[in-house]
Amino acid sequence: MTPYRKDKPEMGLERQIQGIQVRLNALRQNAESVSVPSRTLLEEAIADLNSTLEELQATAEELSQQNIELLATRQDLEAERQRYRTLFELAPDAYLVTDAKGIIQAANCASEILFQLHRDLLVGKLLVMFVPPAGRPLFRTQLERLTELVSQDSTQTAETGENDRGSCTTLVRHLSQDWEMQFQPRKGQTFSAALSICAKYEPDSRAISSIHWLIRDISDRKRAEETLKQSNQQLETRVTQRTGELSQVNTQLQLELSDRKRAQLALLQSEELFRNAFAFAVNGLALVGLDRHFLRVNPSLCRLLGYTETELLTMTSDQLIEDSEAERQRSELNQLVLGEVQSIQTERRYFHKLGYPLWIVASTSLVRDFQSEPLYFVKQMQDVTERRIAEQVKTDFIAIASHELRTPLASIRGSLGLLASGNLDTKAESSKQMLSVAALESERLVRLVDDILSLDRLEAQKLPLERQLCRAADLMNRATQSVQSLAEERNIAITLIPNEIEVWVDPDRIIQVLINLLNNAIKFSPPQSSVALGVQTQTEQVLFQVRDRGRGIPASKTEAIFGRFQQVDSSDTRQIGGTGLGLAICRTIVQQHGGHIWVESIEGEGSTFYFTLPIM
Ligand code: ADP
Repeated sequence: MTPYRKDKPEMGLERQIQGIQVRLNALRQNAESVSVPSRTLLEEAIADLNSTLEELQATAEELSQQNIELLATRQDLEAERQRYRTLFELAPDAYLVTDAKGIIQAANCASEILFQLHRDLLVGKLLVMFVPPAGRPLFRTQLERLTELVSQDSTQTAETGENDRGSCTTLVRHLSQDWEMQFQPRKGQTFSAALSICAKYEPDSRAISSIHWLIRDISDRKRAEETLKQSNQQLETRVTQRTGELSQVNTQLQLELSDRKRAQLALLQSEELFRNAFAFAVNGLALVGLDRHFLRVNPSLCRLLGYTETELLTMTSDQLIEDSEAERQRSELNQLVLGEVQSIQTERRYFHKLGYPLWIVASTSLVRDFQSEPLYFVKQMQDVTERRIAEQVKTDFIAIASHELRTPLASIRGSLGLLASGNLDTKAESSKQMLSVAALESERLVRLVDDILSLDRLEAQKLPLERQLCRAADLMNRATQSVQSLAEERNIAITLIPNEIEVWVDPDRIIQVLINLLNNAIKFSPPQSSVALGVQTQTEQVLFQVRDRGRGIPASKTEAIFGRFQQVDSSDTRQIGGTGLGLAICRTIVQQHGGHIWVESIEGEGSTFYFTLPIM
């Protein structure tokens, strides 16, 4: 800019005016020698000139003032320009100015750094040449778009006749959207940049005068974004993987959970099964601790032993058996603990709470934990008392039957032996006596065998009842006739108490009962006494009775005599005859008919045997 000079141009004009005034004054002095009319004319001319000079003087002063103001404005503008220049130069982003075709016309310092080229070399080059080939179509499209926008702006301005951007002679059009693209400097690496573009144009010519490019290197940001994106992707991949793993684990857990639920249900069911099996088992069951205390007992065991559950749980299994057996039991359980045996089966006597003995078969095993440590014993107990009694009865029966059979046989053998020895050949009376003994014993033997077989068949129910409607009186008559000769022999009178009762029975069996009872009554009655046979109806049953005036039966035997081979006096067999099986046969027959048999007796006064038969 040209520096301000004070002597130009206003000062020159003042000097010229002053020069004119000087010359006019000289002219006025010279005019005195001139003619009056000429002088008047000259005076008027000088006055006009002075007036003109004054106007000129005022104009010169005004111009001077304007010049001062202009100078100040120029200084302000220069300062503004410097500021913009500095701003342009020191801007952190690249700032390029191109023409409408994109030829670089100006570049700032940051542009040199970004494009790695001195601005002298940048200027004159097409900016598109710094764009990698792939990005050039977009670059050109954006330039075209800018031109289009400018063209639209110009048209609008022309149509409305207004300049909506004020009184500027040039207009500026920004691309409404900034965009990002890559640049490729001649040397160095490609970089990403964010672009902000605006075009300056003349509204009248509709031509872009310059395009201003603000280019910011965003490579670092891009790299950071890329890193962030990769991190995000990695994170997403990890999340996906982890989600997959968690889903698998979840599925696995669900499976395990449902397995566990199934197992738990199965356990509950099996536990319920076990509990039911334990509670409803026919046999006694118990869990017994290693110290032989009962830990759990089932209802059957309580019933069997007569104790309540609470009572048993305070007891040891030793307390239910004899001391000697308890000692044996301890050593058996010890064998289980030592693993010498897997289970133990014993049959021994236990004692009911009421004190009577029970024969119990007990199976015992030991439950161990996972480390094979003994936990408790499991005991199953079965009452075999009836079997034991039956076995005992059978044993007794065989022993007694053998004895009973052997006695007459021995007698027969003895008699026949004597006869066979010939020692009695000459003694006819003795021989006859021996033969008589042998015959009597043979008869007894036959009776005995008959009774045994009869009882056996009855008890085994091999003789089914053939029931029919019978008059009780008929049955009683027929029985009486059978024993009539014996009664006469013993001089005993049989009294019948008649009754028109009908019964639904097997007549032969009931006659057998009546004969047996009458036989006994006659046998155990003193001569010339009487035996009474009667029958009467009771509520829902018929009651038969056979009464004698004999020796009677002790109270302690009134029940026992209905057992096998049971006699009040063992000498009765020899003296009175009989097998001890008659009443056992009677009881079996009466029970088969659904009745009951018993005896009421007073020793020395006689006995009355009763039996009932239900009314049909
Ligand atoms: P037995 O063949 O020995 O008579 P029973 O079974 O008929 O066999 O009788 C068993 C026992 O009952 C008899 O041996 C006798 O001791 C006793 N007894 C039976 N009936 C009478 C009675 N009327 N009076 C006294 N004792 C009797």
